[in-house]
Amino acid sequence: MTGSILAGEGESQVTASQQAQTYYRATMRPFDPLPPLEGRHEARVAIVGGGYAGVCLALGLAERGVRGVVLLEREGIGHGASGRNGGFVFGGYSLGEDALLKQLGFDRARRLYGATTEAVDLIRRRITKYAIECDAIDAGVIWANWFRDPSILRARQQLLKETYGVEWEWLPEPQLRNVIHSQRYHDALLERNALHLHPLDYLHGMLRAAQGQGVSFHEHSHVLQVERDGAEWRVRTGAGEVKAQTVVLACGGYLAHLQPQVDRAVLPIATYVMATEPLGERLRECLHTEAAIYDTRFAFDYYRPLKDTRLLWGGRISIRNRSAQAVKKLLLRDLLRVFPQLEGVKINYAWSGLMSYARHQMPQLGTRGDGLWWMQAFGGHGTAPTCAAGELLADAIAHNDETWREFAPFGLQSARRPLGYLGAQAQYWWLEAKDRWKAMLEG
Ligand SMILES: Cc1cc2nc3c(=O)[nH]c(=O)nc-3n(C[C@H](O)[C@H](O)[C@H](O)COP(=O)(O)OP(=O)(O)OC[C@H]3O[C@@H](n4cnc5c(N)ncnc54)[C@H](O)[C@@H]3O)c2cc1C
Repeated sequence: MTGSILAGEGESQVTASQQAQTYYRATMRPFDPLPPLEGRHEARVAIVGGGYAGVCLALGLAERGVRGVVLLEREGIGHGASGRNGGFVFGGYSLGEDALLKQLGFDRARRLYGATTEAVDLIRRRITKYAIECDAIDAGVIWANWFRDPSILRARQQLLKETYGVEWEWLPEPQLRNVIHSQRYHDALLERNALHLHPLDYLHGMLRAAQGQGVSFHEHSHVLQVERDGAEWRVRTGAGEVKAQTVVLACGGYLAHLQPQVDRAVLPIATYVMATEPLGERLRECLHTEAAIYDTRFAFDYYRPLKDTRLLWGGRISIRNRSAQAVKKLLLRDLLRVFPQLEGVKINYAWSGLMSYARHQMPQLGTRGDGLWWMQAFGGHGTAPTCAAGELLADAIAHNDETWREFAPFGLQSARRPLGYLGAQAQYWWLEAKDRWKAMLEG
C-alpha cells in the first residue's frame, strides 16, 4: 500500500516536502504526534485501529461517560482509508438501497438506512459542537447520469422516497449543465442531506474531542497479539500492553492479523485519488457548484472542489496497488474525459487507499460474546456508516444495548482470499464493460 505523492514529469513545482504525502497530510491543521504505548496499562475498553471506526467508537464511549478507553494505531492516526478518502459524507452503504430492501424487507432496511442519514446529522452536530475545523461544505452531493436513459435516476429517486422517506431532487440536463460544465452528463439527482470535508482534519477533530473526555490515544503502536487472560483480554504491542475487559478490532482493509476469523471476512480493495494544482478562475470553467459529484456508472468518478480551488478527483477500484505515477496517469485520463477544458492541468498529488469489503457489501459489527468485538467492512461508503456503527457499539458496550444486532444478518462470512480477489476484479471488469457498452449503444 502506498500513500505516496507523485512528482511527475513537468512538475518541478512539486516540492520535496509534498512528496510522500497525500493532499490531506500536506494541508492538515497542526496535529501533535501521539506517544506510542509503553509499559503495562489497565483499561475498560481497548480499541485497535485509528480510523473513523475506532475514533467514532472512542468518542461515542467518551460521550456516554465510559472511562478507561485506550486506542492503539499501528501507524499515524488516519493512516488508512479514513485519512485518504474522497471526503464525501452521505447516506447509505456500499450495498445499494435496492438490494438492502430485498434482503431485509421494508422495516429493517429503513432502520439501517436511517442510521446513516442520522449519522450525517450527527457528524454536522459534532463539527459544530467541538468546533472541528475541517473545511466542511454543506452543499449536498450530485449523482450525475453518465447515460441518456433517465430510468436509473427515476427508479432510485422513487425507491428512496417510497422506502426510505428520503427526497433526492431532480436536476434536469439544462440545469445540471449550468452547474457542471461537462457534456458527459444527462440529468442528475441532488442529495441535499450530504456534505464534504477534509477527512484527516475531521478525524483529528473527533480525536481531540474524545481526548478531552479522557480517551488515551497511541500512534505507532502496532498490536501484535490479542489474547484471553482470565476474564479479560491482554492486548500486546512491541513496547507495552493493555489489559482490558473489552477489545474492539477496527482495522478496515489494513489487516490486523490478530483474529483469523475477523481478517478472513474482508477483501482489501484499492481505489485512487488525486488533487490538481490550484485552478483559480479555471475551476469556474468546470463547476458552478460547491457540491461533491459522482456518476451513475458502476466504476464511477467522484470529485469535489477544494477550498484552494483545486479539484480533488477519485475513481477506479482495483485489487492492484498502483504507484502514484500510474494513479495520476489513469485518473488524469478520466478527468479530461469529463472536463477536456482542463487539458494541460498539473496534478500535484496522487495516492491510493484500501477499502475493506465484505462479500455481502455491508459493514460487519459483532461480537463473540466474550468481550471481543469487531467493526469493519465499511467499503467505499464509510464516513456516515462508521459514525453510525460507533454509536451502536458505544451503546452496546456502555449500556448493553442490543440495537447493533440489526447488523447480525451481515456476518463474518469468508471473503475467500486470494480467490476472492479474482472474483472481485472479474466482476469489476464485467460491470465496467457493461457500462461502456451501454454508453456506446446510446451514442
Ligand atoms: C481512496 C478512498 C476514497 C474513499 N472515499 C470515500 C468517500 O468519499 N466517502 C465515504 O463515505 N467513504 C469513502 N471511502 C471509504 C471510507 O474511507 C472507509 O470506509 C472508512 O474510512 C473505513 O474506516 P475504518 O476505520 O474502518 O478503516 P481505516 O481508516 O482503514 O483504519 C484502519 C486502521 O487500523 C490500523 N491497524 C490495522 N492493523 C492494526 C494493528 N494490528 N494494530 C494497530 N492498528 C492497526 C491501520 O493502520 C488503519 O489506520 C473511501 C476509501 C478510500 C480508500
